Amino acid sequence: MPPRRIIWTKKVIGWLALPVVIGALSCANRVNAQNAFDAQGKTDDYSTELRANETLGECLVRLKITDGEIYRAIEHIDIADDLQGLAANTPIRLKVDAEGSVRLLRLPLSRRGSSEPDEPIQVPTKFPVLVFSRESDRGSGLQWTYVQENTRVQAIQKSAPFDGNFFNVMDRQEIPDAVSEQFTRIFSGTVNFSNDLRHQASFSMTYEVAFLEDSPVATGKILHARLDTSGHQHQAYWWKTQANQTGRYYSPEGEILSARSWKSPILYSRKTSNFGMRLDPFTGSWSNHQGIDIGAPSGTEVRATQQGKVKAFGYEGNYGNVVVIEHGNGFETTYAHLSRFANLTTQQSLKQGALIGYVGTTGRSSGPHLHYELRRYGKALDPENTFQGGDAPTQLTGDDLEQFKQFQRSLKNQNLASEPLHFNNN
Ligand SMILES: [Zn+2]
Repeated sequence: MPPRRIIWTKKVIGWLALPVVIGALSCANRVNAQNAFDAQGKTDDYSTELRANETLGECLVRLKITDGEIYRAIEHIDIADDLQGLAANTPIRLKVDAEGSVRLLRLPLSRRGSSEPDEPIQVPTKFPVLVFSRESDRGSGLQWTYVQENTRVQAIQKSAPFDGNFFNVMDRQEIPDAVSEQFTRIFSGTVNFSNDLRHQASFSMTYEVAFLEDSPVATGKILHARLDTSGHQHQAYWWKTQANQTGRYYSPEGEILSARSWKSPILYSRKTSNFGMRLDPFTGSWSNHQGIDIGAPSGTEVRATQQGKVKAFGYEGNYGNVVVIEHGNGFETTYAHLSRFANLTTQQSLKQGALIGYVGTTGRSSGPHLHYELRRYGKALDPENTFQGGDAPTQLTGDDLEQFKQFQRSLKNQNLASEPLHFNNN
């Protein structure tokens, strides 16, 4: 294969005129204590970021802070809990006076990612900040307070070719896991992330980032996602209507994206067998396959593809360990060959994306994979075709469609919805 010169862009662009999505934003609150310094003597200012798995105490040691009181303060029982599990890259600002006393320490309490997989992702407009301050250097004690500061929300666009494993590419572009996982969910019904990204595939995405001062502290949702694979182009815009205020993803033409209503039972998966007639791997004869098989290592998490209720779970013949979920309107899904179950009870309500078990090879199975079926009133449907989501309208019309088109134009005008990347073969 000849070497390719690949042009890609990486932009950080201010959020200009889309109040529909984000609402009014204002400048960060100032902490009173901060003003106290300006009239005082010389201080050293530090700006740093927590390293991966570094505690605040370790960070202060790294900065050679010798003020014993700050170390005692961060061990204080009221504070210590809040300092657990801080995210890498949490920005820290510190002022230290000529005597080595900490005069100000400012720390946004950003957490390592732990959001529920399918909760609507709200970018925070306020963010908790822990502020330590000392009024003067004449032996006055260190005080602390929690303030809620207003964030500044920006849309950030990133694009790049896929020149390796999906998550490696995301890491190299410094795209947080919470965002890259959204990306896989948006396209999980349409793209095979292992096989379809090999040849001249590229992506672009625009997502919300909340900043305190100049430091990113949290991410929100993807507003526009684009995936170009050889010969195919996939796009998704997040949008909400009067009738659906939680918002969902639409194609540029205003059609609800399937992945939004029925999701893949496994993130980042490889389909190994299609729905319909196939050669039975055990008998060698043709049979009708009532579901799809998805290859994944033993122990991979299996998730409910739509909200519903546990109808049954247990060991059953060919299926091995199997979970059946009822979704209303006659829909049922089946998840077979599991190695074990999540903590389930019969009739338990499940959210979409809830963990129900783990991939295995129990029952009549030739290796670890998930056998997944979707039925309506008992009749097996091809999950690939029927991920269209029940009886809800699937296409924006009238005013909704007009406003959606306007939203797309305004993203384009701000260069936040990219054109495809160019591949120049040299
Ligand atoms: Zn199967």
